[in-house]
Amino acid sequence: MAWFTRQKPSVEKGTPEHARHVRTEGLWLKCEGCRQIVWRRNLDENLQLCPRCEFHFRLDARARLNMLFDGAWEEFDSSLVSTDPLEFVDSKPYSQRLEDMRKTTSLPDALLSGGGTLQGRYVHICALELKFIGGSLGTVMGEKIARAVERSIEKRAPLIVVSASGGARMQEGAVSLMQMVKISGALMRLDEARIPYISVLTDPTTGGVTASFAMLGDINIAEPGALIGFAGPRVIEQTIRQKLPQGFQRSEFLLQHGFLDAVVKRSELKQYIARSLDFFCS
Ligand SMILES: [Zn+2]
Repeated sequence: MAWFTRQKPSVEKGTPEHARHVRTEGLWLKCEGCRQIVWRRNLDENLQLCPRCEFHFRLDARARLNMLFDGAWEEFDSSLVSTDPLEFVDSKPYSQRLEDMRKTTSLPDALLSGGGTLQGRYVHICALELKFIGGSLGTVMGEKIARAVERSIEKRAPLIVVSASGGARMQEGAVSLMQMVKISGALMRLDEARIPYISVLTDPTTGGVTASFAMLGDINIAEPGALIGFAGPRVIEQTIRQKLPQGFQRSEFLLQHGFLDAVVKRSELKQYIARSLDFFCS
C-alpha cells in the first residue's frame, strides 16, 4: 500500500489543455487600465469605455460611424474590392485571406466611408477597421479616401478620417505604398479648396498610415493612450541602441512633443469635432 504516491490519476490529467480554463470570452474582459473584470455588455453600452477607469477599448469602424453621425448615414463605395494585383501568397493566398476577412468582419475592405450629419452639419467620415488585415492601407482604402476627398470638394463638406492601422498592406507590395502619395495628393486638393480635414488617431495608428493621411489633418486629434508611431518601439530601440522614455509613442507623449493638436476622450470627441468645424467654417 503506497502512502505517498497517488494511485488514481488526478482529475485534471484526463482533461485536455483547452478545456482546463473556464471560458468566459465574449462575456467578460480584463481592463488593461484598472485590471478589473468588466462585463462586455457594459462596454457595448458605453462606447467601449471602461465604466471604472475610462480605459479606451478599441471601437470598430461601423460603431465609430454610428457614434459620430447624428442618425442614419449613407455608405459609399461599398462595392470596391481588391483585385490581388501581385497574386500574393504568404501563409495562404491573399485572395483567400480577403475572402475570409470579408466573412468575419462583414466588410468589403479595411475602411468604411460614409456621409451624413454631425451635430447638424453635413460631413464625410471614413473609419479604418483594424480587424480587417490590421486596418492595412491598400488600393481599396486609397481609392475610397481619394473618392471621399473628391466628394467633399464637390459638396463642400468637411472630411474626417478615423485611423486605426498597422500600416501599408504588404500583400499589395509597392502598389499599397503608392496609396500614401495618392491620398496625400488628394488631401492637397482638399486643402486648396479650403475645406477642413480632421484626422482622428486611435489605438494603434502606425506605419504608412501615420506617414501619410493620419498626420495631415488641419487638426490631428488622438484618443487617450493610443499607440501612434511609424516603426514600433522595439525596432527603434534596436536601431538607436537606447532605452526609450516612459510612455513613448502614446498620445499624451506625442501631444507634449508637438506631434498632435489635442488628446480628446471618446465621450467628448463628437462635441470636439463639431466645435472645431464651427471654428473652421464660420
Ligand atoms: Zn478600467
